[in-house]
Amino acid sequence: MNPHRYQAAEYLTAAADLRGMPADLGFEVAFAGRSNAGKSSAINALCRRSGLARTSKTPGRTRLIQFFRLDDERRLVDLPGYGFANVPLAVKQQWGRLIEGYLLHRHCLRGLVLMVDIRHPLKDSDWQMLEWTAQSGMPVHILLTKADKLSRGAGAKRLQEVRIELRQAGATATLQSFSALRGQGLDEALACLDDWFQWPSPEAAPATSATPKESPAPASG
Ligand code: GDP
Repeated sequence: MNPHRYQAAEYLTAAADLRGMPADLGFEVAFAGRSNAGKSSAINALCRRSGLARTSKTPGRTRLIQFFRLDDERRLVDLPGYGFANVPLAVKQQWGRLIEGYLLHRHCLRGLVLMVDIRHPLKDSDWQMLEWTAQSGMPVHILLTKADKLSRGAGAKRLQEVRIELRQAGATATLQSFSALRGQGLDEALACLDDWFQWPSPEAAPATSATPKESPAPASG
């Protein structure tokens, strides 16, 4: 694992529909969750960049899919938060079409990280995300966020409860507890991202320097 890969993340573009997205090539890992679940904080913590995904939500961008470039082939994708109260039905439907279209038709998407507040049950919209990803066979990794809000014992119990709930529903998602505030669970989450992004191992990288010359034979006597 190499955290610098994520620290290099830079904002690329935002899209309101599939046509506005970068070319469907390379590798993408998307982040989704109900609004306030801790998605922006998680992205920032994983990239070790405090202002990357704005926790204070840039107006006008909250309903767009945002792309962050890691390298020429790899992107992190911030899907619009869902579950806002008092949002008109037409907007909810538009959100649904955008996310569904992305999850079902984006070839370069390798996995979805789903943020769920550890204190709250999975809601209908979270289950909807699991259903769409199941349809496309997309792996999902759930971060039970804000784990610092529970004692260690209560957190472990909650993790086990959600694990059982998912299994009973036939969902194959993996899950872990996470706290952006404490930096808890970063390594586990990054290992999952590393796996999905298929970073080339350093040994596989092309040699950048010529074969070193043979060192001179030690002088004898
Ligand atoms: P988003 O709407 O899903 O992007 O959520 P944010 O990342 O903006 O977080 C929503 C609220 O939860 C903010 O007040 C954050 O400070 C808070 N929050 C996010 N992550 C954590 C965490 O790990 N621990 C605690 N205690 N609060 C958090």
